[in-house]
Amino acid sequence: MTIFKKIIDKEIPADVVFEDDQCLAFRDVNPVAPTHILIIPKKEIRSLADIDQSSDKEILGHLLTTASQIAENEGLDKDGYRVVINTNEHGGQTVFHLHVHIMGGRVMEWPPG
Ligand code: AMP
Repeated sequence: MTIFKKIIDKEIPADVVFEDDQCLAFRDVNPVAPTHILIIPKKEIRSLADIDQSSDKEILGHLLTTASQIAENEGLDKDGYRVVINTNEHGGQTVFHLHVHIMGGRVMEWPPG
């Protein structure tokens, strides 16, 4: 069981900013930008490399539309922000429960390291 599943099950606390029947969004405990929020599906999906191409379409769309809404709620939409899904070892994924990072409040560099 991952730490994110424990957050979904309310076994460990998180600074939740949004929740519905399909997903949960909370502030990253180790933020790398002034605003750094993670959005996770309540369904246990290991990574973007493990999705079901057909049955996970709706939840993936939901995670991104929710990211847009949360960014707007946080006042990030005008200046902009970055959305990232780290995937497996080369992608830098450390928690193996699919999650979308929303980062904003500063200028981001490109390319990422
Ligand atoms: P990734 O490297 O893409 O797998 O990102 C995992 C993220 O989860 C990192 O940015 C961590 O800081 C964050 N994280 C790990 N544990 C927690 C936690 N208990 N609450 C909030 N964020 C966490």
